Amino acid sequence: MATIKCPNCGVYNTDRDYCEECQTVLSYKIRRELALKKEEEKRLKQAASKEKEISSFEKYNNHRFFLVRFITKILRSIWLVFMAIGMFFAWLFSAVLA
Ligand SMILES: [Zn+2]
Repeated sequence: MATIKCPNCGVYNTDRDYCEECQTVLSYKIRRELALKKEEEKRLKQAASKEKEISSFEKYNNHRFFLVRFITKILRSIWLVFMAIGMFFAWLFSAVLA
């Protein structure tokens, strides 16, 4: 026989897993199981949020790579235009000097 005082309402319960007044869990075993379940849920949630973080990071990374590619493309076209202008001037100078 075990008498446990309910931590919620203060009623003494004898050999009960749940308080007869407020149904609070009194059994140490059940409490531990519930705590373990909660812990497991927390762990799963954390793992899920971590996965989410990674996927959003990957999205950001792809986005960044896309931006870098985009900028590289623009810079290359600007460079090509400069080269074309430079070649045009070189041709112009040689034409004028010739
Ligand atoms: Zn109670």
